Amino acid sequence: MNTLITVKSQAIKQPKKGFELTQNHKLALAYLSVAVLPFVLAQLLGMEFTGLYTSVLSAVNLLAMMVFFIQFPLAGRLKKVPLFSNIDWGITQHKKLGKYLGIFFFLHPIFIVLPKALMSADDLSVSVWSIVTSPHLLTALIAWCAMAIWVLMSIYKDRLNLRYETWRLMHVTGFAIIATLATLHITTIGSHGQFNPRFNTLWWLLYGLSMTLLIYNYVIKPKLSINQAYSISSIEKITDSDWQLSIQNNNQTPLVYQAGQFVWINTSGNPYSLEQHPFSIVSATADGQVNFAIRALGDYTSSLGKLKPEQVVFIDGPYGNMTLAPSQFASGITLIAGGAGISPMLSLLTLLAKQQDQRPIRLLYANHNMSRMIYLETLAELQRTMANFKVQLVCEYIELYQTYEQPNITHGLIQGQDIVDTVTKGQESQWAYYLCGPAPMISNMRDTLHRLGVSNNQIHYEQLTF
Ligand SMILES: Cc1cc2nc3c(=O)[nH]c(=O)nc-3n(C[C@H](O)[C@H](O)[C@H](O)COP(=O)(O)OP(=O)(O)OC[C@H]3O[C@@H](n4cnc5c(N)ncnc54)[C@H](O)[C@@H]3O)c2cc1C
Repeated sequence: MNTLITVKSQAIKQPKKGFELTQNHKLALAYLSVAVLPFVLAQLLGMEFTGLYTSVLSAVNLLAMMVFFIQFPLAGRLKKVPLFSNIDWGITQHKKLGKYLGIFFFLHPIFIVLPKALMSADDLSVSVWSIVTSPHLLTALIAWCAMAIWVLMSIYKDRLNLRYETWRLMHVTGFAIIATLATLHITTIGSHGQFNPRFNTLWWLLYGLSMTLLIYNYVIKPKLSINQAYSISSIEKITDSDWQLSIQNNNQTPLVYQAGQFVWINTSGNPYSLEQHPFSIVSATADGQVNFAIRALGDYTSSLGKLKPEQVVFIDGPYGNMTLAPSQFASGITLIAGGAGISPMLSLLTLLAKQQDQRPIRLLYANHNMSRMIYLETLAELQRTMANFKVQLVCEYIELYQTYEQPNITHGLIQGQDIVDTVTKGQESQWAYYLCGPAPMISNMRDTLHRLGVSNNQIHYEQLTF
């Protein structure tokens, strides 16, 4: 069997007491170390900046430009580079930092002319006029306008009424052009470009790496996926709003993944198509078949009925860090799933059952209404066969005939008390908590867990939106 199954040690270690760096702290520290590299290099090359204001501004400019280039690998699906392999963390930072960068670069020319503006309004108008009219600064002016528009388009993407794929194509090509113009600008203007050509090598190297990553993701990787194509073995409607899709590898080479991971699938027939969607893997073993449970939410997921058995499927993945590895020493596990978030939980549960895990395992599974609860029979079977597993369904709207008849159905949304009820009393800080569902639910559940005294190290999650 090729699946990378994390073998759980049966010995339960007590968690370390005191301050512990979370995985996200470590990623943030690694990120910062990379982000300050240009500044460190400038110091090593002995580059001098005159005056305090210019020195601070130059340092911030160097940092901002580096952050701009790191935006490419942050969203670049680089699973082999530890800093960028946590896709959820990477995309969250990419979005957050993108907003700050947008504001910073918008203010960048203002920061430059500010000292002159403070001295005399005449000097300011001359400076602004020279910026706008100088052919030397044309690249900067275009990059500045494009950056402002493209950042706003990213922030308000959901209001633009564009197809996700159209928006993504515009986002990637737009920022590739902005990177080109910005690199031309910083290597030809200002203290770095004009006075230290050696320093420019760094910017061109970063630019080259960013463009290579785009070429790899949009040209090379799709080409490689042709030889690893999958085909649909079945597509079945399992509720009014959910589908079960099964695919298998045409070369009989099973997909190597860990329980809890996800892949991007492309069913367009064209490996280069941007129509790729991320779905968590429901299965947990590499028996050649990979299953997905998909909720109809938008254009693509509502038209899955058009898919035909044996149709080709291209895969990018697996990705994702919501695996069992970090919880191997926890004394119990609470899984919290909202809607389609049940998929990776089923994968984790299947693996826990396979490993005959003796720990208490609890599942809180929330949905809008009962008819949207999927795989209930599988869950009931796991409840019967696993050593210590219990399911609690949480339903926002319960039809009258179902009211409170079944003890394992709670009415409403998942509350802190529902979580407390899953955990062995007094052991909250020794349990691991897995969350998967829509982004607002994840943020709500994380806040609730924090209020219960659960640390970030014990919380593992995957949001169903990027
Ligand atoms: C890591 C991860 C795992 C997921 N696992 C599952 C799963 O197991 N089952 C399930 O039903 N759903 C899952 N989803 C959600 C699923 O990917 C979206 O519902 C689906 O892509 C929506 O496509 P659409 O065209 O039908 O809807 P649209 O209306 O076009 O999109 C709805 C929203 O989904 C997001 N989205 C759309 N296309 C993409 C894309 N190509 N890449 C990233 N985000 C996109 C966007 O935020 C968009 O606003 C997962 C999402 C993520 C991020």
